Amino acid sequence: MSSEEQREQEREQEREQEQRDLAVAREAGIHRLAIPTPFMVGRVNAYLIEDSPLTLVDSGPNSAKAMDELEQALAARGHAVEDIELLVVSHQHMDHFGLASILARRSGAEVAALDLLAPFLANYREASDHDDSFAEQLMLRHGIPPEVVTALRAVSAGFRAWGSPVQVTRTLAHGSELELRDRTLRVLHRPGHSPSDTVFLDDRSDIGEPSILLAADHLIAHISSNPLLTRPLEAEGDYTGPRPQALITYMASLEETRATELSLVLPGHGPPISDHVSLIDQRFRMHARRAEKMHHLIASQPRSAHEIAQELWGNVAVTQAYLTLSEVLGHVDLLLRDGLVVEEERVGVVRFRAT
Ligand SMILES: [Zn+2]
Repeated sequence: MSSEEQREQEREQEREQEQRDLAVAREAGIHRLAIPTPFMVGRVNAYLIEDSPLTLVDSGPNSAKAMDELEQALAARGHAVEDIELLVVSHQHMDHFGLASILARRSGAEVAALDLLAPFLANYREASDHDDSFAEQLMLRHGIPPEVVTALRAVSAGFRAWGSPVQVTRTLAHGSELELRDRTLRVLHRPGHSPSDTVFLDDRSDIGEPSILLAADHLIAHISSNPLLTRPLEAEGDYTGPRPQALITYMASLEETRATELSLVLPGHGPPISDHVSLIDQRFRMHARRAEKMHHLIASQPRSAHEIAQELWGNVAVTQAYLTLSEVLGHVDLLLRDGLVVEEERVGVVRFRAT
C-alpha cells in the first residue's frame, strides 16, 4: 500500500470513529450542530440537548450565515430557534457566544454561564477594549515592534462584531449542578485556554451509560488548545498586576480532566474524543518538548519572547504575534517555575536568560 493510500485509509477510519462517537452522543440526546465561523479554526460545535428544558450549549458567532445554518440544523431535528429554553455559554470567545443575545431575544431562553463570566458577557465591548489594552502592554513589554502592535489592535477591533453583549440570567458556580429532566450537568471551571472555560459533565455511570463531557475548547482532538494570555476576569477595567500564567493554569485544569472517568468528550471544534487520557498525555509531552526547545534557545543567548517566537516560527511570529507570544510565554513560565531561566528587564523590554 502506498503512503497516500495508507493516509486515506486512516482518514476513513477516523471518519467512521467520529460517526460512532456522534451516535453515542445522540443516544444520550446530545446532537452536534457544526456552525460556520470566519476564523481559522473553522466550524464551531454547538450542542443541542433534547431534554427539558430544550438546551443549546454555545451558539456560533454573531453572523447571518451562522444563524441561517443554526436554524437549518435545528429544523432538521424538528425544532425552531423559538423552542430553545436554555442557552449555555462555555467561555468568553466570540465564536462560541456571538449569537447568544439574538437567540435569547427570539426564544426568551434563559442564558446560563459561569458566575465569573457573566460581567464580561454583559459588558462585552468594554471588556474587549480592556483585553486589547492588556494585550498591547504585554506585546510591547515582550519585544513586539509598536507598528505590529498597532496593526494587531486594528485587526482585533475589526473582529469585535462577531461577538455581542448578552445578559446572563442564571449564573453558575464551579461545582454546582444544572438540573434537566433527564440528566444533571455538573458545572466545572477549567481555566487555561481562556480564564472562563467551563465544562459540563453528564455523568451517567451510575445507570451504566456513558459519561459525557461537554468540553468546548478545553480539549480539542486535532489542535492543541492554545492557552491565550488573557486579562483575568476578576480585573475590573485595565489590569496591571502580575502576568497570568495561562499554560500552567491550563495544565492544572488538564490534570483534573485527566483524572475524570469519561466515555466521551464533545469538544468545541472537530470530532469527539474517546480516549481523553492518552490525548492529554500527548499534550503534556508536546508542552515539555516545546519548553525544552525554548530553553536551548535561551541558553545560547538571552532573548525576548518575540525573538524566541521569530526563531521558532519565522514570519508567523509577526502575522500571529499575539498567539505566538502567548505560546512562548506559556512555556517560558514552565522554565521560570523550574528555575531554569530568569526574567531581566531593560528599558521596558523583558529578556529571558538561562540560569
Ligand atoms: Zn475558545
